[in-house]
Order: sequence, then C-alpha cells, then structure tokens
Amino acid sequence: MKTLIKNGHLVDPKNKIDEPMDLLLENGKVAKVGKKLAEKTDREIDAQGKIVCPGLIDMHVHFRQPGYEYKETIETGMRAAVKGGFTGVCPMANTNPVADSRSDMEFMTGEARRLKLIHVWPVGAVTLKHEGKELTEFGELKKGGAIALSDDGRPITDSNIMRRALEYAKKFDLPILVHCQDEGLFCGGCMNEGFVSTKLGLLGIPSESESVEVARDIQLADLTGGRLHFCHISSRRSLEIIRAAKQGGSRVTVETCPHYFHLTDEAVLHYNTYAKMNPPLRTQADVEAVKRALADGTIDVIATDHAPHSENEKNAEFDQAPFGIIGLETSLSLTLRLVEEKILTMTELVRKMSTAPAEILKTGRGHLAEGAPADVTVFDPSLAWTVEKDKIESKSKNTPFMGWKMKGRATDVFCEGRQVLKAGEILKDES
Ligand SMILES: [Zn+2]
Ligand SMILES: [Zn+2]
Repeated sequence: MKTLIKNGHLVDPKNKIDEPMDLLLENGKVAKVGKKLAEKTDREIDAQGKIVCPGLIDMHVHFRQPGYEYKETIETGMRAAVKGGFTGVCPMANTNPVADSRSDMEFMTGEARRLKLIHVWPVGAVTLKHEGKELTEFGELKKGGAIALSDDGRPITDSNIMRRALEYAKKFDLPILVHCQDEGLFCGGCMNEGFVSTKLGLLGIPSESESVEVARDIQLADLTGGRLHFCHISSRRSLEIIRAAKQGGSRVTVETCPHYFHLTDEAVLHYNTYAKMNPPLRTQADVEAVKRALADGTIDVIATDHAPHSENEKNAEFDQAPFGIIGLETSLSLTLRLVEEKILTMTELVRKMSTAPAEILKTGRGHLAEGAPADVTVFDPSLAWTVEKDKIESKSKNTPFMGWKMKGRATDVFCEGRQVLKAGEILKDES
C-alpha cells in the first residue's frame, strides 16, 4: 500500500522541517519527503490547511486492564488514543494485579498486537506489587516488552530502594518514571493546600509534597547516573529546583499534563470531583510557572496521565472520590491553545508530544526522515468542536473539560503505514 499525504504543512522538529511538504508512505515506512510529489499511489490524503507530524506519543496513561475493565480496557483506551491523534501510549503498571512480571508485559503487548491499532509500550513496576519494598526483575520485564519502569500512583518512599532501582535500571538502559509525593506531607490530603481547601474545609496537600521528593530524586539521579523522568510536575517550586539542576548538568527529564497549565484549584470549588487528581490542581502562580517551564524547555514532555474512573466512583463525597481524569482526547486541543497564546511554537508542541517522548523511550520514532517508521498524525489546527459526553471514545467520561469549546483535532492517523483514523473516524483492521 502506497499512501501520499499531500498539501500539508510538515512539522518535524528532529529533521528541522516546518514548511509545506508532501509525504509518501510505503511498506510501513516513510518512503519520500518532498515538495509536490507526483507519485502513482493507492491512496491520497489531501492535508490542505493541516499539520502533518510524527505520530503523537503519550508516555503516561492508565488503561485499567486487568482488574478494572469497567473503567477502561486496553481496547477502549487505544481507541481514545487514536481519536486524540496518538500512535503510541505507555500504560502504567498500577492494574490489579500490579504489572510486575514478564507475563504481565507480554499480556499487554499481546493484546496490542491482536487489536492492531497503535503501539502499546507497557511500563513495568519498579517494586513488587507496588509495595515499595522489593525490586522486580527489570531484565525479565524488558524481555516481556517493558519500555520503562514506574510505581506511578504511588511514590517510592525508601530512598535506598530508589537508589538501587536507578542503578539496576541503568544496566538495562530503562528510564524510571517517578511520581513525586512525600507521604508525610501528603498526609491523606485530597486537594491543593491553600485558600480554596480552607474555604471548602478539605484536607490540603502542600505543593512541597511534590518538590521535596523532586529534590531528593535529582540527587539520586546524579549519584547513580540512572535515567530519571519526572511524571506530571505541577508546582512552581518543583520547576525551579529542576531548572537549576538541569542548568547544573543533571540529566533528568520532565513531563506535565494539560490540566496543570489550564486549571487552578478554583476548579474544585463546589466540590467538583472531576477536578480531583494527584498531584492536585494548584494556584495561578503554579500555572504560570508551568507555562514558563514549557516555553524555556525545562519541561520536555506533555503527557496526559489519562486516568479513567466510572461515574459512580466520581459521584462521591470529594474526599472519598478517586484521584484522576481522562485526557487522551483533549490533550492536543488543549496544547494547541499554548501555540495560540504564543507560549509554544508548533515545532515545540510536536517536540513535546512526539519527538521528546520517543527519545526518552528510545523508540526510534518521533520523526519522519526517509526510512523512518510511518507513524504519522495529521491534524487540523482550526477545526472547532465541543467536548461532549456521548462523543467521548474512552469508557469513562471523567473530564473537567466537559462542555469546553475546543479548536484543533486529529483527522487522520497512520501507524506503520496503516490508517487507523480517517477523517476523524476510527478504522480497524486495515490490511
Ligand atoms: Zn502519578
Ligand atoms: Zn499516573
């Protein structure tokens, strides 16, 4: 199958392309990149007015299978990802049972192969059952398909376990994705500690719960030379510490999520459980700091931390409801707002949503040079749409962005040359 994507505007940060360019895909690879390609092909996509870029990668999602299939399955999660314009996702290990063995990794990759939509690169647990006590067998996890390691959902409290994990993971060249949370300071809180938590009478989590552990982990990364990636950074103080460390030569990488640059803890007013996630939404000063850190490159990656929960679970008292919101289908549009606000260029958006995660995960993707895998996302940056419950592909609908007017959406997605999204509709089983 030969596919020509023509008349589009190609954005490929790694190969320094940001101009009108056609793309020819053949045998699952990029066959040609050039101006006005005139090829005889089986299929033509007219990308006039659209951006063509390397397939988006979300390195932080929760797909809930096995154990919580009523929230999301690998299949429904992948479908939500395709709608959002993603060609690869990394599901975290906090399923039930915790994905801490080679066979758990093989289950995930096997499901992905069977469903044949996009890449699923599973994240293996750092410690057995996420208990923070005993390391898993990193080599076995890698053989099963693990692309990274994480106890996400929980912090690794014991500093010596964290140190050993970084040393051990280095042997297998795997990054450790850390969820920074000082358990003592977290202290069972349910939202950001501040004016709003006081007003609502809810137990707050100080932002230092995150930044204290960020400071520790930078030192452990320096000590061990291990590959450390910070998940969902939300606070100004954390970013100041990371910026200084990076300037001093620390080689850590950092992600944030769209809710941390669009919402503050005021979204929690009226006890809105759809604005409850961990780390919690913080203050306007933190939102500004996240934007600054995105603009100056302190933050490398935009991920979603897509965390589906059922309506019943979220319709609980605020302190009882689970943490987490879905994000796969709104991430691109919410990030495009930063391009409109001139905080990011289109190149920087593509770098943070594709090229950088591909490099951290060493997938060999995230760019579109001739010969590269044909993982391609085509999106219309001006397509207007509204977030509506019955149009959400994910099994769960827990988003604080419900009803928001959005601009920009993926229209066509190719995974190794197979078209999985066509004019905004999911295609399955294209041969
Ligand atoms: Zn987390
Ligand atoms: Zn998470």
